[in-house]
Amino acid sequence: MSQSQTLPEATPVLIVGAGPTGLTLAVELARRNIDCLLVDRNPEPLPFDRATVIHSRSLECFETMDVIDAFLERGLVMRGFNIFANGEKVAQTSFESLECRHPYDLNLSENETEDILTERLEQLGGQVSRGWSLEGLEQTDSGVTAFLKSADGIEQSVSADWLVGTDGIRSRVREAIGVEVSGHQYPALWGVIDGQILNWKHESDRAAIQIEAPALNPVPLPGDRWRIYFRAVEDADPSTLLDCINAGLDAISPGSSLQEPDEPILYHTFRQLSAHYRSGRVLLAGDAAHACSPIQGHGMNTGIQDSFNLGWKLAHVLSGKGGFGLLDSYEQERRPIAAAVGASGDVVEELRTIPDDPAAVARVKRALCAMLLTASGQQQAARDETGIDFHYRNSPLVKGYHADGETAQQSWMGPLPGDCLPDAGPLMPSTTEETLTLFQLMQTTGHVLLWMAADSTAVPDRMEIESLLQPGDVFYVISTDTQQAALAYWLSDTTGQVHARLGVIDPCLFLIRPDGHVAMRCEPPELSQVAAYYERLKC
Ligand SMILES: Cc1cc2nc3c(=O)[nH]c(=O)nc-3n(C[C@H](O)[C@H](O)[C@H](O)COP(=O)(O)OP(=O)(O)OC[C@H]3O[C@@H](n4cnc5c(N)ncnc54)[C@H](O)[C@@H]3O)c2cc1C
Repeated sequence: MSQSQTLPEATPVLIVGAGPTGLTLAVELARRNIDCLLVDRNPEPLPFDRATVIHSRSLECFETMDVIDAFLERGLVMRGFNIFANGEKVAQTSFESLECRHPYDLNLSENETEDILTERLEQLGGQVSRGWSLEGLEQTDSGVTAFLKSADGIEQSVSADWLVGTDGIRSRVREAIGVEVSGHQYPALWGVIDGQILNWKHESDRAAIQIEAPALNPVPLPGDRWRIYFRAVEDADPSTLLDCINAGLDAISPGSSLQEPDEPILYHTFRQLSAHYRSGRVLLAGDAAHACSPIQGHGMNTGIQDSFNLGWKLAHVLSGKGGFGLLDSYEQERRPIAAAVGASGDVVEELRTIPDDPAAVARVKRALCAMLLTASGQQQAARDETGIDFHYRNSPLVKGYHADGETAQQSWMGPLPGDCLPDAGPLMPSTTEETLTLFQLMQTTGHVLLWMAADSTAVPDRMEIESLLQPGDVFYVISTDTQQAALAYWLSDTTGQVHARLGVIDPCLFLIRPDGHVAMRCEPPELSQVAAYYERLKC
């Protein structure tokens, strides 16, 4: 455990809360050599689990953060889920056909996710200062003063240029800055219990969803264990709980039962959304900014992706490469995603809390079958689950430019401004033998400019391009011309697959942000548009 007895008096960024969101943000800042202080009121990491499922998009973020190997080593790859009604499998969803780096969910307990992120932070020279609770804060135009109290009653204030509240659903930071939060508690009481399942007859790399009562949802964990989420009943006799869970398991897989169960935990869930993610020099991320039904496993994933969006922006502002407007784009890009995830959670909560009668079960079964019995319905459900379609197309920060005007952009295929750049390859460097893919080019902390050229004659001088970029940014020329110049930044798309995946027919350029989203698509390539983007960053 990393524990700090004393705190520095000042820091560029104070992060309050060392859950998955706070840890991701601290790693993202540390990767960019930005000092931060990460505090948590708990003297030790929490031993119990909440989140289990890590989605494809979060895994891509973890790959960029250089922690993917640890996650893949410790987690369980989950290929999809099966839906059961009246003992019969009625529908299923598979992630395997998704075109993305990680076409699966990875199941791992939240405390292990926190462990891996903490290890990465420590590798980068950071640490978690535990046992310090934020009690209050004051801010001016130039900074924030935070008032903290240690577990043994010592009070200390810390001044920070920026403070980020990643302190969970009952955020003290959110309260201190007076940001309103709207939402509701879901009526159903749920429970979760871990154990082994004896005589499970279905795939052990797929979750199961049982529609009718007793509604339950076994999710596979590493080490032959399962986590079972179940619909609980208020004031029920605890001694009947296991019988009830076993009845549900038996309905899905006759003869199966839960062995070596841990203590069950009962919980209520909430949907919440903060009115704003930023007030002056204080920002909110993760559950402090939003909360959703855990049924689709979006809560922690959304928090991780908030921090992946915010990390580079905060680093840009602190290093003078970006203006405060960049931080406004954080809310503009991330809040609509939290709102959409929250709304979709409402629908699923309603489907999962059907009354215990055959007509209601039949109605839900019909609804799910209508959605999931076609290949396209299954694909869409898988895409919705894994978060790979989340985009920032409406962000004021991203831009499309076509010399023939805006309507010409409507015929663009491939990623649009604001979309996450898909992976594609192979790309053949002109100076080495080893082939690369687009995703590998993005493994940097800055922007990446991709100049999609048919031949070398139309590409401006390297110095001219580099003079527009910021320190840490890189650029490549990707060409289908195999007779290319022997320069390290020239990559040959010999099979044309990269051009096809990006929907490129004529020369154009893509500017990719440090979080892997397309900042700009510009056809034909125009350096004045790139310069204008960098000016916008500074607003
Ligand atoms: C049963 C259940 C299952 C779930 N399953 C999934 C899932 O499969 N996938 C998924 O994505 N999400 C899931 N979630 C949601 C997920 O657990 C949360 O969204 C996630 O934990 C939020 O992470 P966070 O870092 O934003 O906040 P938290 O994990 O809540 O961390 C906040 C941290 O802030 C600290 N803190 C609080 N107040 C202060 C203070 N005043 N001063 C200093 N420190 C403070 C706390 O000690 C804590 O460590 C589930 C939730 C539940 C309840």
